[in-house]
Amino acid sequence: MKLDIRTILFMAAFMGPLMAFVLLSLRRNYPVSVRGLGWWAGGTLVIFIGIVLVALRDILPLLATVWGGNSLLIGGTLMWLLGTEKFLGLPTSLRTTGALVLVASALLAYFVQVQPFYEARVTVIDTTLVMLIVLHSHRLAQHNRFDFSGRFLVLSLMATACAWVVQGAGALSGYTEGNAMVSNNFNAVISAVLTCCTLLTLIGFVLLASERVRDEFERLATKDSLTGALMRRAWDTAAQLEMDRCRRHGRDLSLIAMDLDHFKQINDTYGHLAGDKALIDFVVRVNTHLRRQDQLGRLGGEEFVLLLPETSQNDAVVVAERIRAATANSPAHPRYTVSMGVATLQPSDMSLQHLMSRADAAMYRAKDQGRNQVVTQ
Ligand code: GH3
Ligand code: MG
Ligand code: MG
Repeated sequence: MKLDIRTILFMAAFMGPLMAFVLLSLRRNYPVSVRGLGWWAGGTLVIFIGIVLVALRDILPLLATVWGGNSLLIGGTLMWLLGTEKFLGLPTSLRTTGALVLVASALLAYFVQVQPFYEARVTVIDTTLVMLIVLHSHRLAQHNRFDFSGRFLVLSLMATACAWVVQGAGALSGYTEGNAMVSNNFNAVISAVLTCCTLLTLIGFVLLASERVRDEFERLATKDSLTGALMRRAWDTAAQLEMDRCRRHGRDLSLIAMDLDHFKQINDTYGHLAGDKALIDFVVRVNTHLRRQDQLGRLGGEEFVLLLPETSQNDAVVVAERIRAATANSPAHPRYTVSMGVATLQPSDMSLQHLMSRADAAMYRAKDQGRNQVVTQ
């Protein structure tokens, strides 16, 4: 089968504006907190204009196709990296990467115009692209929480980098016949592979942005905006699921009801904002003592409840005592304390509400006994 390279590249170039349009539509419709979409869209357009110029080799002058086309290819690849840095909220690397791209472009111009030298041009283009792509996937691997879309994008970037390495090695070994537009098997396969990798990378951007939006909506629907603890309904659902699971497997499950002491007084003395800060500080302290499966819920005001699956009463008391001490010794100003009631699931607990009311009763006993303490039901 003979694949015409220009046809492949023009098809790829046709995809460019379409994908840029998709990314720009996402930018319009997604929350502004999803950043980087504009850079990804811009980079896509620049890359595809570059591809068109590269494909016009032997039709337009070398300076436009080899220098112009490849410089745009490199520039667009840099814009993709900058988009990802924006998306991840990282400081931009534009100073160093921008300098790298300018040097590469200047060298390329030299090896096109002043001292025509095919192998040197290939080395400059492919090395720069591979460096930018590897840095891009490194940034993602380091800073993404590595969900599906992040992994997908890293894999497509790595595949792209590999394809460029193969292209470079092939070019230096004579397989390109000194011109990537020469219709031979090597050039055709590499163009097709690079086109697929580019498309996969673009799909990766779309997936990444969608996953971020989904996470954000999920957070808005389930987490309290002040402290980040689960809101009542989400906590109830999680707790009910855990309770059913622990019952089925005959495992322990404990609850800790928590209420900050004299909170009204803190608000009255230091102001509502100081009260808010204490609430935030409290949740930070609690979170440092939690395992992955533990769930902290804010039931309202300064009342919280902690779900500890597979935790006996004794272990729950140890956790509660640690949280109590961490709170009482917190460097936060104003100082605050917490009273806690621990209850562990018994066969007689008819429902989650029943178990919660036992934990609540224990917490009120802690209040009655002088606050800043842990009481077991
Ligand atoms: P106790 O030791 O008996 O628990 O006394 P308390 O003052 O903590 O209890 P009370 O229930 O009388 O007061 C709770 C206060 O919590 C009243 C309310 O203004 C305050 N509060 C509720 N939600 C928030 C909030 O989101 N931010 C701030 N700053 N205060 C809140
Ligand atoms: Mg209180
Ligand atoms: Mg209260």
